[in-house]
Amino acid sequence: MFSYRHAFHAGNHADVLKHTVLIATLDHLLEKEAALTVVDTHAGAGLYRLDGDYAGTSGEAAEGILRLLSEKKAPAAPAPAAKSAAKKASAPEADAPLADAIARYLSVIHDFNPKGGARIYPGSPFIVQHLLRDHDKLKLFELHPTDARTLDANIAQLEAGRQIAVLREDGFGSATKFLPPPSRRALVLMDPSYEIKSDYGRVLDFAAEALKRFATGTYAIWYPIIPRPEAHDLPRRLKTLATKAGKPWLHATLTVKSSKLITKETGETQRPGLPASGMFLINPPYTLKPLLAAALPQLVERLAQDRHAAFSLDAGG
Ligand code: SAM
Repeated sequence: MFSYRHAFHAGNHADVLKHTVLIATLDHLLEKEAALTVVDTHAGAGLYRLDGDYAGTSGEAAEGILRLLSEKKAPAAPAPAAKSAAKKASAPEADAPLADAIARYLSVIHDFNPKGGARIYPGSPFIVQHLLRDHDKLKLFELHPTDARTLDANIAQLEAGRQIAVLREDGFGSATKFLPPPSRRALVLMDPSYEIKSDYGRVLDFAAEALKRFATGTYAIWYPIIPRPEAHDLPRRLKTLATKAGKPWLHATLTVKSSKLITKETGETQRPGLPASGMFLINPPYTLKPLLAAALPQLVERLAQDRHAAFSLDAGG
């Protein structure tokens, strides 16, 4: 445990999806004046340098936020016969305006990089804090000793006083203590590292317990789409949970490449790196689906690494 450091992955395609959804969700929730509490059960370090040692090692941001900023588009690929609800992006339209949710995400990244580019990449705690109003609250959980220290130091610079609490506690185990918050309005972001198989089951248990305590909260769960039964089952089980609780849900996925093993010239095989990820929301804002319907095809178009790039968008309840 604890080999995962988000600094290696900051700004990758999964962060692009997750943070685009997070911002679109928050924008809607913040339209109402009543105080909002945001609980980030797996916060990470808060801020990342994309020109730093960690980010440079894997270069994942190059295929995520940096590629999006460069406005490069993937070459149009012939769409293989669709087997599932997954959709290929239609051929790139050269001058199509950027979808609102992507433009908004990029504007937030720009706020952290006023000179342009994305040398600084804000993690979820800083994105949320940037958008919150003075009377809203933010609860951050982070267990990794180094990342928790960095998060503490990063948050201290904001001089946000009692608006933000950093807890070195198990987000799965204790974040429900903030539910329901006094204003009865909350967004819970669950973004575990899924380093251990049991994380998938713990996400589900957390969501079940959270819904029992606070059925009207908005829950946003990120998960990796990898060839592992638990990863495959998680959205299905979340859908069942939401449906049984009579709550609306939304499920969005972004695939940037094939998950097949790569065979090198030497004959050795290599894992392709994270090919896809998903966001599952319970009680999503009604505005989210149309925003993502416009944004996801453009994310596929701009972040595709091969002809397997695709998205899916489903909602129910
Ligand atoms: N949400 C962050 C963002 O969007 O910028 C990234 C979070 S990263 C994917 C997951 C984080 O969860 C890691 O920093 C890891 O150390 C932390 N973590 C792992 N298990 C945890 C637990 N049980 N409780 C709280 N944090 C945990």
